[in-house]
Amino acid sequence: MLLCPHCGHENRAGTIYCERCGVALVPIPLSTRKFEGDDAVGSTDQLGTDGVLILQIENDETPIVVQMRREVILGRVTETEDAERTYINLLPYGADEAGVSRRHARLLRDGQAVYLLDLNSTNGTHINGEPLPPGVEKRLRDGDELTLGRLKLYIYFKP
Ligand SMILES: [Zn+2]
Repeated sequence: MLLCPHCGHENRAGTIYCERCGVALVPIPLSTRKFEGDDAVGSTDQLGTDGVLILQIENDETPIVVQMRREVILGRVTETEDAERTYINLLPYGADEAGVSRRHARLLRDGQAVYLLDLNSTNGTHINGEPLPPGVEKRLRDGDELTLGRLKLYIYFKP
């Protein structure tokens, strides 16, 4: 049995992506990804057809890999009965100390586009250092830097 740290669902052994919320339960090899250096120019804003998003939290070696359905909530929710949305629990990454709200921000997948929305969080959201006003949806690109409160993470689109 594999207990999902994000939604609390008990998955069968051998499951790769949580059957309930889509978060990868085992480390996913990312060697196929081509890093093109620090230059973000020319990076894609198109999510791959399998909808896999990689969240690399600063100072943490293991990225969170999630197969996006429609909505992903970033915050501090550990268990939910809400089957419509995926909740990413950032508590193991110091979300409390960094001032991340329970429901801080939402990622929305629309085809191959991904949008970020701040959910009226207490300490705000930044994209590449720019404040994201609450209620404004901003399209994300591969390699964008997101700051939730003081928690910094990078977002990558798996081709
Ligand atoms: Zn899950």
